[in-house]
Amino acid sequence: MVGVGGEVLVEGLGESADVVIVGGAAVGASVAYFLKSEMGFAGRVIVVERDPTYARSATTLSAASIRQQFSTPENVRLSLFGVDFIRTLKTRFGADADVGFREGGYLILAGTAEGAAVLAANHAVQAAEGADTVLYDAAGLAARFPWLATDDLAAGCFGRSGEGWFDAHMLLSLLRTGARAAGAEFLHGTVAAIERVGARVTAVRLADGRRIACGMLVNAAGPQAGDVAALAGLPLAVEPRKRSVFVFRCRDEVPGLPLLVDPSGVYVRPEGEAFICGVSPPEEEDGRAGDDDFEPDYALFDEVIWPALASRVPAFEAIRFERAWAGHYDYHTLDQNAVVGPHPEVGNLLFANGFSGHGLQHAPGVGRAVAEFIATGGWRTIDLSVFGYERVAAGRPLIEQAVI
Ligand SMILES: Cc1cc2nc3c(=O)[nH]c(=O)nc-3n(C[C@H](O)[C@H](O)[C@H](O)COP(=O)(O)OP(=O)(O)OC[C@H]3O[C@@H](n4cnc5c(N)ncnc54)[C@H](O)[C@@H]3O)c2cc1C
Repeated sequence: MVGVGGEVLVEGLGESADVVIVGGAAVGASVAYFLKSEMGFAGRVIVVERDPTYARSATTLSAASIRQQFSTPENVRLSLFGVDFIRTLKTRFGADADVGFREGGYLILAGTAEGAAVLAANHAVQAAEGADTVLYDAAGLAARFPWLATDDLAAGCFGRSGEGWFDAHMLLSLLRTGARAAGAEFLHGTVAAIERVGARVTAVRLADGRRIACGMLVNAAGPQAGDVAALAGLPLAVEPRKRSVFVFRCRDEVPGLPLLVDPSGVYVRPEGEAFICGVSPPEEEDGRAGDDDFEPDYALFDEVIWPALASRVPAFEAIRFERAWAGHYDYHTLDQNAVVGPHPEVGNLLFANGFSGHGLQHAPGVGRAVAEFIATGGWRTIDLSVFGYERVAAGRPLIEQAVI
């Protein structure tokens, strides 16, 4: 039997797999794709996904953008691989493969000398990694982006290439199709329990009672990653945090508008003929989202976003609100940075979690890295040990300065 999303609905089997992946959206599907397709992993790989429509996955509700502008070198490397992956889709997935990549760049603005110093430090990291980003002072911004109000700006950093936006559904579809074609199996079910014997995970149990014994378990449960880790008795401070996205139209054109990040934290970018925008809620109001709370926070648009947009881009003084949606960030409360790799004691449980708003663009790179780790027992093309669980256990944050 086949589910809505093409998942095989295996019934009544006492299954076993070499690798079980919990969550089949961008990250889980990418791990499965790289493992089966690129690494030629001969073992059985089962991806367990509770919702084959992916309607509430962070992947499909995201702003689907990719940037090189991070402060953690490994995040830049993951993004460089991500953009290369997007540019070379046809060589992997065939001539029709296309995610509609618009290479419009990001423009991250600073309003103070301190903010400018952070941008400059981040830029140095990006340049050292080979990312094509460039710094501007206020005069340079005014000359390069004539539609921008620059009076209160200190600096900006722009990605001349390697940054932009794309269709998340299409990327997910390619990864899933590619993984399945290479032999990964997608199973419709909810992982409700994880069995452990000492320092090893031995099986998962699904909500409907099915049991799948496993040699390795990958946590790719996105915003639910903390809940899944808890099933194995392991703490992981990754939780769902609601983020609203608003769609509007504007009569005037803003030629060459990149994904613009205002010093207030408000972001905006083109989306076809329209625009999308958003902002994180104030810290004191930002807590764990209810599992079923996908109601956009309209007050953010009226009270924070629109005033900021209108003063930053005068053309946005006259805009028409169109619609909104909300999704859940896979938010890591320790440091808003990823947790990737094996648990130090429970070594056959691997994390690929906590991306806190930048996990879609990193899905190809993380998928490849985790697949290499599973297949070879270590980091290969990219060393992600900096994201290891050890810092979680020690409560030692790895601060990413460029969080949006
Ligand atoms: C509004 C918004 C904007 C964003 N913008 C961007 C952006 O511009 N660029 C970017 O790179 N990232 C962005 N992100 C973040 C990005 O979407 C996520 O980091 C990324 O999609 C995480 O992928 P994932 O596969 O780990 O998680 P998800 O896509 O959430 O997938 C996890 C899957 O696990 C399944 N699952 C959970 N628990 C279980 C269980 N117990 N059993 C079985 N299945 C389970 C879920 O159904 C889900 O399909 C944004 C996120 C949001 C919400």
